[in-house]
Amino acid sequence: MSFHEIIDTINEALKLPFKNFIDPSKRVHFLYLATTILLALYVFIQTKTHKNFFKFLFHKKVWFGKSAKIDYKIIFFNSFVKVLLIGPFLILSLYIAYYVNEFLLHKFGYDAVKLSVTETLIYYTITLTILNDFFSFFIHYLMHKIPFLWEFHKIHHSATSLNPFTQYRLHPIELLINNAKNIIIVGFVTGLFDFMSNHQIEKVTFYGVNVLSFIFLSWGANLRHSHVKLTYFNFLEYILISPFQHQIHHSQNPEHFDKNMGSKLAIWDWMFGTLVRSKSVKRKIKFGIGLGDDKNYDTFWKNLHMPFTNLFRKVIYSKDKK
Ligand SMILES: [Zn+2]
Ligand SMILES: [Zn+2]
Repeated sequence: MSFHEIIDTINEALKLPFKNFIDPSKRVHFLYLATTILLALYVFIQTKTHKNFFKFLFHKKVWFGKSAKIDYKIIFFNSFVKVLLIGPFLILSLYIAYYVNEFLLHKFGYDAVKLSVTETLIYYTITLTILNDFFSFFIHYLMHKIPFLWEFHKIHHSATSLNPFTQYRLHPIELLINNAKNIIIVGFVTGLFDFMSNHQIEKVTFYGVNVLSFIFLSWGANLRHSHVKLTYFNFLEYILISPFQHQIHHSQNPEHFDKNMGSKLAIWDWMFGTLVRSKSVKRKIKFGIGLGDDKNYDTFWKNLHMPFTNLFRKVIYSKDKK
């Protein structure tokens, strides 16, 4: 890498977090932040727990407390991971799509299925949303159930206060796993629909953000990581995860461990028996890993190295026991 390339990489990585504000496929796009404030105002009026809306929403601890500062540092660190380790591999999605399409053409021939552009748009959007959501849930489920993966996922749970940027508080290893999942799913589904629509898919994927994610992002997705308790109707919480249901997922209370692991849809949690609805939580919840473990993750560096340190300790300990 030349000196110029190093400067360009640093430049790109430092700009990346700010680009999220103008990227409509990102949750913190300014438009979604605006709808978030309106929904928070609705919750504020409904609950009447505070006198001043501004103080309620922009609580200093939530935005500038120790936990929030760790979120921001992780975001900048992960920008380098994205530019250096993820960016160059995004193209793999196109290769997967290409080979899936080729394979299906070989197997079934041309014109086996012929979807129109509108049909492709509808079915592609629905299939991609549901499959992506299921695998997001399933990987999240594994991260909670497999001790090795839990060490890395703990970093998302070590946040003791939540703000919309906490969604990006992920250990680089988890970031790599999530991106690998996206590359594979998008590749397969795009290849499948490219085959079924006679290459109409380019017209459909052009816009980047689809109508379903637009609805999800503008309807309070940012409140999932916040102290604003937006709940849905009880019946709806069986189908869609409300912001408060995700806050329950971050609860320190052992009763709530490994619950509500869904991303958009609640049906997976319902099926796997891990669903908790807002109605059943009466007491105030505290965020964090719980069991006295949070103090081990109260700096940026601890969050970065603790998974490796803990895994190393486990290996040594298991050797000692033999
Ligand atoms: Zn989790
Ligand atoms: Zn979360």
